[in-house]
Amino acid sequence: CGIFGIYGHPEAANLTYLGLYALQHRGQEACGIVSSDGRSLHVHRSMGLVADVFGDQALFRNLPGPAAIGHVRYSTTGDSVTKNVQPIKVDYSRGSIAVAHNGNLVNAQIVKDELEAWGSIFQTTMDTEVILHLLAASKQNSLEDRIAEALGRLKGAYCLLFLTETRMVAARDPQGFRPLCLGKLGDGWVVASESCALDLIEAEFVREVEPGEVIVITKDGITSHFPLKKAETAPCIFEFVYFARPDSYIFGKNVYSVRKEFGRQLAREHQVDADIVIPVPDSGVPAALGYAQEAGLPFELGLIRNHYIGRTFIEPQQSIRHFGVKIKLNPVREILEGKRVVVIDDSIVRGTTSRKIVKMVRNAGAKEVHVRISSPPTSYPCYYGIDTPTRKELISSSHTLEEIRRYITADSLGYLSEEGLLQSVGAGNTPYCKACFSGNYPITFPKLAAAPQLD
Ligand code: 5GP
Ligand code: SF4
Ligand code: MG
Repeated sequence: CGIFGIYGHPEAANLTYLGLYALQHRGQEACGIVSSDGRSLHVHRSMGLVADVFGDQALFRNLPGPAAIGHVRYSTTGDSVTKNVQPIKVDYSRGSIAVAHNGNLVNAQIVKDELEAWGSIFQTTMDTEVILHLLAASKQNSLEDRIAEALGRLKGAYCLLFLTETRMVAARDPQGFRPLCLGKLGDGWVVASESCALDLIEAEFVREVEPGEVIVITKDGITSHFPLKKAETAPCIFEFVYFARPDSYIFGKNVYSVRKEFGRQLAREHQVDADIVIPVPDSGVPAALGYAQEAGLPFELGLIRNHYIGRTFIEPQQSIRHFGVKIKLNPVREILEGKRVVVIDDSIVRGTTSRKIVKMVRNAGAKEVHVRISSPPTSYPCYYGIDTPTRKELISSSHTLEEIRRYITADSLGYLSEEGLLQSVGAGNTPYCKACFSGNYPITFPKLAAAPQLD
């Protein structure tokens, strides 16, 4: 998911719309904005893409005020239905509060069971709702203390934006799984999942929100708090591999440069005699450039992507469905014919994409097809906010390299090593989370049954 918030600007909701637009890659299922006019909160949320949900400018008259938060959702926990669209807003004894969440709590069910035993009634199936119930139940006096008490009960990955009538609060979990940055626009403050959202609205990048930090923004300015127990950090390395936008700066680094270095390292680890290097667009592009430069091979666009396929694309009837991946990608025969081709993608999840692409490239006349993947085999599900399928659907959890090569019908297959991945990020002493590759989860689950179901 992606979150965006702005405080202290007359066009808060409109700028939030633009911020969400820049974060659309982090979730295409649903989106929403909550604004504050200083007296009450106003909400508009729906399933769909940002441009569709907020396409009508007249809508913004219903989202007045100088502060707003927004969310783009792709479902990790909770069903994909309208009532699970964020931000969530509640009214309670102390007023109204809304929250937008990126991440995934690993102990949500345990806390939820406890709260329900005390009489709380939940309206959604989202782990995020737990946070609001904890806030409402807190006996602390100040909002900061109530938030600190609520966060103290949570385990897992969270970047959060809270909005009340008069304040905006940003929080990042002590491990710092997901990125979050702070920006400035005139006299206003901006918080966003990725810096590309600041760029779009021409806000100045100030700094990242630190792991475990809670930033309270009021009309008097910002204050920073560290109310939570310190933990070893575990920023998500998969943000660099796939999730974040290449123009963003996250965890102190530019995503494009890191991705390109993955490709260079991949070339060092898995050389092959070939004529051209092509990416699987868009996610494989920076790594393919790095690979080509390091290997001294020409970089070509051998697959062209149709950019107009949204979630709204409806598959044609069964009888003509064999178009399959061609709807999204089409090979350039002129480039591929008679060539030994290296195809670069960022990851193999189920293996279906690679299999179709190898076939497509071969049908377009390629003599050899060598697949190179700019991350290690994805063998374990993520419990911290990336929507990977269950273990048994991950092809590398149950198949050897040779079996996968045969399944995708490639002439050769090579993955970036774990050491190569860390080295390319320049991880140094930073302990990144790479559990989906290694199986070493930085937060264990309070009880196994409580591990979120990600199927
Ligand atoms: P597969 O066909 O092997 O299941 O999927 C591999 C493709 O999915 C790759 O091209 C990769 O870029 C993309 N991919 C990897 N992780 C994710 C993810 O979390 N969400 C989505 N939508 N695509 C992903
Ligand atoms: Fe990121 Fe993988 Fe860790 Fe999930 S398990 S937080 S995707 S590195
Ligand atoms: Mg891809």
